[in-house]
Amino acid sequence: MSSVNTAIQLITREQAENGAAAKGGTCSPALAKGPWDYDLAEALAGVPAYGPGASSADVAPAATPRQGQLPEEYKRASDAELGERILAAKAVLGDRAVILGHFYQRDEVIQYADFVGDSFQLANAALTRPDAEAIVFCGVHFMAETADILSAPEQAVILPNLAAGCSMADMADADSVAECWEQLEEIFGTEPDAEGRVPVIPVTYMNSSAALKAFCGENGGIVCTSSNAKTVLEWAFERGQRVLFFPDQHLGRNTAKALGVPLEQMPMWNPRKDLGGNDEQALLDSRVILWHGFCSVHKRFNVAQIEQARADFPGVQVIVHPECPMEVVDAADSAGSTDFIKKAIAAATEPTAFAIGTEINMVNRLAAEYPQHTIFCLDPVICPCSTMYRIHPGYLAWVLEELVAGRIVNRITVADSVQDHARTALERMLAARP
Ligand code: SF4
Repeated sequence: MSSVNTAIQLITREQAENGAAAKGGTCSPALAKGPWDYDLAEALAGVPAYGPGASSADVAPAATPRQGQLPEEYKRASDAELGERILAAKAVLGDRAVILGHFYQRDEVIQYADFVGDSFQLANAALTRPDAEAIVFCGVHFMAETADILSAPEQAVILPNLAAGCSMADMADADSVAECWEQLEEIFGTEPDAEGRVPVIPVTYMNSSAALKAFCGENGGIVCTSSNAKTVLEWAFERGQRVLFFPDQHLGRNTAKALGVPLEQMPMWNPRKDLGGNDEQALLDSRVILWHGFCSVHKRFNVAQIEQARADFPGVQVIVHPECPMEVVDAADSAGSTDFIKKAIAAATEPTAFAIGTEINMVNRLAAEYPQHTIFCLDPVICPCSTMYRIHPGYLAWVLEELVAGRIVNRITVADSVQDHARTALERMLAARP
C-alpha cells in the first residue's frame, strides 16, 4: 500500500531537485525528514514544537512532553529492516502486546496495527485484550491517556513518541479552564433554576487532556466524541441552563447550531482575556460558551475548495468532519465523524466521487480501499496532522524491542485521582442516550 509519507518524500525530493512544486505539493518540505530531527531540534532549542505539518504554526505549551533521542540504529535502519524488526518483536511478544493505530496515522505504522480506528474505538478495542501487558498506542497523547483510564491498572500504555501530542487538546489547559469556571460561577452562581437545571454544564471533547475529563467528571459534566456530540449536548441541556464546551469551538458550534441554538447565544471564550473577551450580559444570555480552540488540520478546509471540487467533479459528494469551520460544514453535503465518513463511503453502491474534508492519511487509505470510487482530499496540499507524523516505524520498533528486553519505555500514566473523575465523565457519556 502506498503511504502518504512515502508520497511526501517523493514530492519534496522532486521539489528540492527540480525546484518545481509537484501537483498540489506539501505544506512543508521538512515533512521529508525523520521526526527525530525535531526531537533533536527541540532539545537544542529547549522549547517543544509540533513538528512539520498542519499544526506546526501553533505554539506548543512549555509543559508539552518531549521525546528523548531515538537510538541511532533505529534512525539509520531502512524501512525493510524496521519492518523485519517490528514483526520479529511482535512475534516474540504475541498476545503480551497490542498495537493500536489511529485513522490519521501514516500507513508505514498502520500496517503493524492490530486495531485501526478513532480514539474511542481504539480504547475500547484494547478492552478486548485484557491479557495484553502493553498497549502500544500509535496515536497522540490524549488517546493514550484515555486508554490508560479504561485499561486495567497492570496494563502499560505506551506512546511510541512522547512528542505526539495534539495541538487542539493543548489549547485548553486545566488551569485556564478552572479560571474560566471560577469567573462563570461568579456571574451565574451555583444554584439550579426552578426546573432543577444548574447554571452551566462543562462538556469536553474526547480530544482533551485527562485533567479536563476529570474536571468535567468532578463538576457534573461529561465527555463527547464527534459521533455523539449531539446526544451529549441534549443530555447537558436537560441538566443545565447552558454548556461550557471545550476545547474545539467548531465541533461545539456545528453541533449546537444543528440543535437550533442561535449563533448569538454562542459566545467564544478566549482564555487570554478577562471574562473570555465577553461582557457579562452576553454570558448570561448564552446557551453554549465555546472555548477558543480548533484543530489545525481541519481548519485548513474552506468553501473555495468545496466549490472547486463541485466544478471539477459535478455530482461529487462532499463529506467533512465537524471539526471543520461552520461555513465548510454548511457548504458540504454532510458532516460527521471519521466513522461516519467511512460508513458513508462503504454504503455507496454506485461508483461515486467523494471529496473528503479530513486528515490526508485517512483519505488516502479510503481511496486505496474503495478503488471503484473517486475519493480525494478537499485540500490539494498534502499536510498531515503534524503530531501523528511524529510517530514513525523507528519509534515503534524501539518500544517493541524494549518490551522484548523486559523494559517499558514511554509509558503514559494518569494519576488515580484524575482517573476516577475522568472515568465518571466517560461513563456519563456511555450512559447518555438520544
Ligand atoms: S488531527 Fe487535529 S485534533 Fe486530531 S490529533 Fe491532529 S491536531 Fe489533534
